[in-house]
Amino acid sequence: MERAAVIVAIDGPSGTGKSSTSKAVAAQLGLSYLDTGAQYRAITWWMVNNGIDIDDPTAIAAVAGKPEIVSGTDPGHPTITVDGTDVAGPIRTQEVTSKVSAVSAVPEVRTRITELQRSLATSAEQGIVVEGRDIGTTVLPDADLKIFLTASPEARAARRSGELKGADVHATRAALIKRDAADSSRKASPLAKADDAVEVDTTDLTLAQVIECVVTLVEEKRAAAK
Ligand code: C5P
Repeated sequence: MERAAVIVAIDGPSGTGKSSTSKAVAAQLGLSYLDTGAQYRAITWWMVNNGIDIDDPTAIAAVAGKPEIVSGTDPGHPTITVDGTDVAGPIRTQEVTSKVSAVSAVPEVRTRITELQRSLATSAEQGIVVEGRDIGTTVLPDADLKIFLTASPEARAARRSGELKGADVHATRAALIKRDAADSSRKASPLAKADDAVEVDTTDLTLAQVIECVVTLVEEKRAAAK
């Protein structure tokens, strides 16, 4: 019998098309969608707003359990609130983007957010697409399908500066490389490809092609599980 719930983990650095792909795949297949980067951004926003010193991991760890972060998992309308406040806009500022790697490297923060992610993933009745950096390796090591998206630094910077409406490509490339280096080298569940993940290089693919590729992989998995 076909399993009702399928869990898809999509990891990779920023600018690889992870969010657009994950949302579209979830919408096409009738699955829920979770943007785990938004959760790390939300806790970072709370730290900044509450005057916590971002360079002090002990101070961050001490309050990591305080904010209540709620993610809405409809791929057509993903939402994120902190203590009831809609933070979808504020979590995308340059300030939060430049501080999120330091906050997400703190083990107490990761434990807290990982718990939220697991509970959302296991309660999604139709299944879920979860995108992030450590989903296949740490958060959901038993996911039915693991995808690791990559792309050249040039392609990633060009996409990100397009999203940021014409931001300087060189500055975007430098900021992106800095954030990836921090995310990949941290001790607590770094950005990494799981051994059993399918790697998809999106450099020369259109978004539609990446979506089609992932949808096909999910359908193959579902057919094999019947
Ligand atoms: O995906 P996005 O670029 O919004 O992620 C923001 C940041 O959140 C990443 O740079 C990383 O520091 C952190 N993150 C993480 N683990 C995840 C998802 C995001 O550490 N699973």
